[in-house]
Amino acid sequence: MAAEKSQLLITHARLATLGDAPALIEDGALLIEDDDGRIAALGPTAELAARYPAAERWDAAGQLVLPASICAHTHFYGAFARGMAVPGEPAADFPQILERLWWRLDKALTLGDARYSALVCLVDAVRHGTTTLIDHHASPNGIEGSLDVVAEAVREAGLRACLCYEVTDRDGPERAQAGIVENVRFARSQFVNHDSQFAASFGLHASLTLSDETLADCVSAVGDLGLGFHVHVAEDGADQDDSLHKSGKRVVHRLHDAGILGPRTIAAHCVHVDEGEIELLAETGTWVTHQPRSNMNNGVGVAPIERMLRAGVNIGLGNDGFSNHMFAEMKAAYLVHKLNQRDPRAMPGDLVMRLAYANNARLARVFWPDLVLGELREGAAADLVFLDYAPTTPLTAGNLPWHLLFGIEASAVTATLCAGRVLMRDRELLTLDEEAITARSRELAAQVWDRVNEQGLF
Ligand SMILES: [Zn+2]
Repeated sequence: MAAEKSQLLITHARLATLGDAPALIEDGALLIEDDDGRIAALGPTAELAARYPAAERWDAAGQLVLPASICAHTHFYGAFARGMAVPGEPAADFPQILERLWWRLDKALTLGDARYSALVCLVDAVRHGTTTLIDHHASPNGIEGSLDVVAEAVREAGLRACLCYEVTDRDGPERAQAGIVENVRFARSQFVNHDSQFAASFGLHASLTLSDETLADCVSAVGDLGLGFHVHVAEDGADQDDSLHKSGKRVVHRLHDAGILGPRTIAAHCVHVDEGEIELLAETGTWVTHQPRSNMNNGVGVAPIERMLRAGVNIGLGNDGFSNHMFAEMKAAYLVHKLNQRDPRAMPGDLVMRLAYANNARLARVFWPDLVLGELREGAAADLVFLDYAPTTPLTAGNLPWHLLFGIEASAVTATLCAGRVLMRDRELLTLDEEAITARSRELAAQVWDRVNEQGLF
């Protein structure tokens, strides 16, 4: 006789289903069966409790349960930048930020650092209920095998990640080629297969650090692997100036002509794109990701998100290495467009919510075609976040976005599940040793900072 399936029934939850027909199920229950990590049933607690009397129970005690968050663009390798003093004058523009901060930090990373930098971000992701992350990695002095190191950390955490290595010419032709090899190697590795928690994409830094020759090498390396690209696009005006100088074309046109765009490609940022470029992004089905906290921090401008959406561009929400508290990114998106356009009607809450859930879930399906994320329904992935949130005003499926934007702080997150596996319960991490990771990270970060300082001034 076959062993009985183990079942977990979450009871007495306020379930916000999201999806095409968003509902708020008061005193709801949700059944997870351990064999596939999907939601097997959901409905009123009384009904499900009667139907599944043998299931193990978890009383959510009225907490708000939502689909877990998805991050469309991040950099695990950037975690050691927190609090790092950069020698010399403060960077005056975006190219200086790249040269003085990021291109010194990434050169100082060993594979051991890459592991802990990732683990720090993964602790943060579990703590904030973000279970699917699309990462863009750089460690030019430890390229080969770096994506396996990151993947091992993701495996330990129990999260989902789409990984790539950023190919660039800025560290010389050998490292550019090593980056190409690493992308292809990882995409073919044991980590990436149908149904796994991993997916691969092909990383490119940005048009401004890539020659036509290297772009052509990347396209031919992809061959029949079926990979899309993951590249920073027009994050700053400098990318446009460089592209016009190099090719006489604007960035989106240059990348399109090189064969980079398409429905599996992510163009991060697109702050400085014109109407022709927006049209091309829409026509090619290319994904754009929006990272308002990063854009504000770098002072690069505000991406024309609503204009791109009206033109039919696919847009998701990332964090560019900021905290994996995606509610904070949503808040930034909600606020910055209003200020920028001096119009309180700009970027309404339900639109922010669409980017963060429906659109990010659609983007995730590019990498995991069989997975339903971003909504709670039968058959959807059991990727959940529990929020200790007692609304002080009426809460409905219709006004949920504004409750999330104005009411949810990071401290509200008490539990995180990915594929039915409990990664955090009652704010206690169950897969990662947060204390040990934090202590080791602090030691390694100090060593990285020393190596950054040894690189001297630019
Ligand atoms: Zn980025």
